[in-house]
Amino acid sequence: MIQNLHQQFKSLFNTEATNAYFSPGRVNLIGEHIDYNGGLVMPCAITFGTYLLVAPNNEGKFRFRSINFEDRADIQLQDSYTKQDKFWFNYPLGVITHFLKDGHQLQGLDMLYYGDIPIGSGLSSSASIEVVTAFALNELFKAGYSKLDLVKLSKWVENSFIGLNSGIMDQFAVAFGEAEKALKLNCDTLDYEAVDCHLGEYLLAIINTNKPRKLAESKYNERVQECQQALAALQTELDIQNLCDIDAATYKQYEHLITDPIVKNRAQHVIEENDRVKLAAKELAADNLLEFGKLMYASHDSLSKLYEVSGVELDTIAEYAKTAPGVAGARMTGAGFGGCAIALVKKDAFDEFTKGITEFYTRKIGYAPSVYSSLIGPGVGLYKG
Ligand code: ADP
Ligand code: MG
Repeated sequence: MIQNLHQQFKSLFNTEATNAYFSPGRVNLIGEHIDYNGGLVMPCAITFGTYLLVAPNNEGKFRFRSINFEDRADIQLQDSYTKQDKFWFNYPLGVITHFLKDGHQLQGLDMLYYGDIPIGSGLSSSASIEVVTAFALNELFKAGYSKLDLVKLSKWVENSFIGLNSGIMDQFAVAFGEAEKALKLNCDTLDYEAVDCHLGEYLLAIINTNKPRKLAESKYNERVQECQQALAALQTELDIQNLCDIDAATYKQYEHLITDPIVKNRAQHVIEENDRVKLAAKELAADNLLEFGKLMYASHDSLSKLYEVSGVELDTIAEYAKTAPGVAGARMTGAGFGGCAIALVKKDAFDEFTKGITEFYTRKIGYAPSVYSSLIGPGVGLYKG
């Protein structure tokens, strides 16, 4: 594959690539919709992602090409850039803009991207392309950013250059991911711990609902608001800053302060999900994948029934997984209303799982899902393959 990319680079630019980089996508293993409540998330890097091949050129131009998109651009080096329409190369252009803003001297580059990750499906191909570009530029131009700087810079690209409101989890996971580790992360304080996550005889199945995520943004804002409402109610008697400052047992004593039953459900999800992440880290450290799997199912059910961010597509996947042989657990991952689900599936049961879920899902939903097998891989780096 990488040889093929080198060949394509040569035929596009008429020169050899000097460096190759890879940045993964990510899934969140557990801890959903709690990052904006001071809670813990637990993402990991997957073994699909974005490759970037580069060579400096002497023409003072950034030449952007992607195997995944037909649009291409040759852009003259200047002091700064603004977003150009909806082109994909806004992502690298945003990264370049941040480097320039910080006063770094850049030089023209020929750049070829290739993502083997499903794009626009919630596996964060956007964080992947941001971080791989930031990592490469940092190396090539000796800009001296730390990895955390690269994470923040990439988040700036997503939020301020592209204009999408999102937290720091994706860029963090893509940059700091490690093989066979999950990252237990507080997105406010950026305290994190790399937790052992040995999949052993299991693999991580990623099931794309192939449903466009239309509702996600408006419902997301609605949930944020409901959580603020729940917090305000609890704050009348409790000295807390975030819903996740208390555990489920404490919440039980104060839940009567929330009068709206829907808001109560939202708070219950958030607080119990945060407890589940802490438990999950313990189960993983003890190599207890079956117990971890149960927490995944519990997380899904809570997101579906209490938080109401699932949908018939994601629910169908969880429903199938519960009865399928060789599956330890499954849940929706990401904001919901489409996107992807994940499942822990025994390696020798994966083919059967793929076949079974495709049939079950297609019968119920009317079109097929896409199913991928992944491991937990490393974060951004030089591509050494
Ligand atoms: P997600 O992050 O869930 O995959 P987004 O809509 O946030 O979806 O980001 C997808 C966008 O990121 C694409 O439309 C494209 O602009 C850019 N992108 C991601 N990967 C690539 C790639 N390999 N080549 C070019 N652009 C890419
Ligand atoms: Mg994205």
